[in-house]
Amino acid sequence: MIGHHLAIDLLQRQRETERVPQALLIVGPPNVGKSTLARFFAQILNCQGQIKPCQVCLACRKIISGNHPDIRIFDDEDETLKIETVRELQRELSLSPVEGKYRVTVLSNFERATISAANALLKTLEEPPPQVVIILTAVDPSTLLPTIVSRCQVLPLHPLPTCEVVEALQTYWQATPEQANLLAQLAAGRLGWAVRAIKDDSLLKRRGELLHDLLELLTAHRADRMVYAQKLSQDTNLAKIKEALICWLTIWRDLLLLHSHCQTKIVNLDWQNKLETIIPFLTTLQIKDMIMRLQTALSNQERNVNSRLNLEVTLLKLPKLHKGI
Ligand SMILES: [Zn+2]
Repeated sequence: MIGHHLAIDLLQRQRETERVPQALLIVGPPNVGKSTLARFFAQILNCQGQIKPCQVCLACRKIISGNHPDIRIFDDEDETLKIETVRELQRELSLSPVEGKYRVTVLSNFERATISAANALLKTLEEPPPQVVIILTAVDPSTLLPTIVSRCQVLPLHPLPTCEVVEALQTYWQATPEQANLLAQLAAGRLGWAVRAIKDDSLLKRRGELLHDLLELLTAHRADRMVYAQKLSQDTNLAKIKEALICWLTIWRDLLLLHSHCQTKIVNLDWQNKLETIIPFLTTLQIKDMIMRLQTALSNQERNVNSRLNLEVTLLKLPKLHKGI
């Protein structure tokens, strides 16, 4: 477990003083480490070693490999959490732990629970059986039923400092210094994202394509921009459209930093040379305007507006540069 020392200290103290929270809600941005912390807490609670978690006792090893009979983890992000699953879970939770001290259930991304599933779980959160700990995770607690949130101890996780991400990537994932620096900048404190990017190069490849498309769009005519908006809104799901908007937003923020000769490190380090070539052709006003427009487009996307229209409006407002820049 890397980072999140305050959260871990709190959970350790609660275990030592036998005041273990039976309903916990871990909140924070995607890939910041919510599910990893939930697993770690399951280890802290069931570890048989002296320093918990020892990572070597049978319980710790079974939890790492996903084979502990008292630990249930539901972390399939794409699958809706239905009432049937909650009912089945409730039957299990009514039984005493088989091997460990606590039965721990982790329901990741609880936003994906249906209203009836969330309501069914409420009963268990109100009166959890003894030796049961239920851990929910969510990006934004305001999207959950307030009655769920109020029954949980809420534990917010914040992005890790960039230097911690750089160090972790080099120490535990054998990243080169250059790779670690770039990924840490792009990850913005979400170690899980950086690790995924190391293991799966399609993430960086997709980002490269999006950055390339943006630069092409800057010199494209209205009609071509419309075609691109239509294609992107048809070919990809909502998450991918958000990913594109976020990626472009990082570029415009970088452009603002470079334009104002700010000493802060830009996010897209590997594109710095290319970005510097277009800086002279942009004004601060144009850059700030695009940042604002992309932020609006992102919040529109959250509210499920028509994606094609949203993208069209945004892309048509891109500054027009001459070809060959
Ligand atoms: Zn252990």
